[in-house]
Amino acid sequence: MNPPVYHASTVLSPSVDDWERKKKARAADEQGVYYGRFGTPTTQALEEAIAALEGGYRSAVYPSGLAACHGALMALVASGDHVLMPDCVYGPTRALGTRLLKRFGVETTFYDPLAGAEIAMLMRPNTRLVFVESPGSITFEVQDIPAIAAEAHKRGALVAMDNTWGTPLYFKSFAHGVDVSVQAATKYVVGHSDAMLGIVTCTKETWPRVRAYTHETGQTAGPDDVYLAQRGLRTMAVRLKRHWENGVALAEWVAKQPEVERVMHPALPGDPGHALWKRDFLGACGLFGVVLKEGVREAALAALLDGLDLYGIGASWGGYESLVMPIHPAEVRTATVWPHKGPAFRIHAGLESAEDLIRDLDAGFARLRAAR
Ligand SMILES: *Cc1c(COP(=O)(O)O)cnc(C)c1O
Repeated sequence: MNPPVYHASTVLSPSVDDWERKKKARAADEQGVYYGRFGTPTTQALEEAIAALEGGYRSAVYPSGLAACHGALMALVASGDHVLMPDCVYGPTRALGTRLLKRFGVETTFYDPLAGAEIAMLMRPNTRLVFVESPGSITFEVQDIPAIAAEAHKRGALVAMDNTWGTPLYFKSFAHGVDVSVQAATKYVVGHSDAMLGIVTCTKETWPRVRAYTHETGQTAGPDDVYLAQRGLRTMAVRLKRHWENGVALAEWVAKQPEVERVMHPALPGDPGHALWKRDFLGACGLFGVVLKEGVREAALAALLDGLDLYGIGASWGGYESLVMPIHPAEVRTATVWPHKGPAFRIHAGLESAEDLIRDLDAGFARLRAAR
């Protein structure tokens, strides 16, 4: 049933003739098994599955989600280019813009993620890439990707997306005008918090550039981690449904607590991104944010989070277990002003019983009240 886990560097040729033939085939981008770094049947099975699910042409695995974000950026820009990134972009991706790209003569401008077609006003003659991430990291703004893509394409720029929240199941990047889509497979594809992996998926037009960059810089991923991603993929559809249901149940409960200023979850009807989410997404994952009212002290939030039984405190998300993490949106934005003064946190709803998760949060809010 399952592709074997090939541990391989060298792949032998039975003859010089075969060796030369394979060399030509690889140069012509024919699928095959040439050398471990270029992928084995284990790698190719995952790449094919992700490309098919997301509606792309080909995919390439990277050793982490961040490495995949870096691959998408570096493959598509060159010195002298200008890049647009949303203000809600994943923090380490923001740093790629302000540090790595800058060192290579690429300028990055951050934009309001709620800009749709108005993105046109920020585009310059040398804007080659518009990066999108929707919903945004930490703050969950939903972007109008078709509108952004239309303006970018009109002006000769490409659109790269971080599609980790939507996953290839709940957001079909390529049907919405995206040219290169990145998945931090560490999250829902792997799904069990036991491996790091990234995947870059391309259209037929963008694939040669991504393939070249990927191969030229020796990007690859270990066969056991690739296998874990394949194992995760088998159950991703049923897991995501449960993450979605649990996330909405928790978000609705949290929104009713008097200390809560705002829940940031696009699947809630009151969320500013709800209409776009309904138009473009096929579902929601388990990740959302909560902003508490001004005057609630950080120490009170710590009392809520510290005593939770079922939620671990930790980075990353997408695994079977629920997680929480304090967040500080004001610290990671430059193009927009974060309007809230109260402390904030992020919840990843795992696969546990929603009832148990709510009971645990209820006790947490009691600790928060006692600590005020
Ligand atoms: C976690 C994350 C990444 C990076 O993935 P890693 O596998 O941790 O490197 C990229 N983008 C988003 C939106 C993420 O949440």
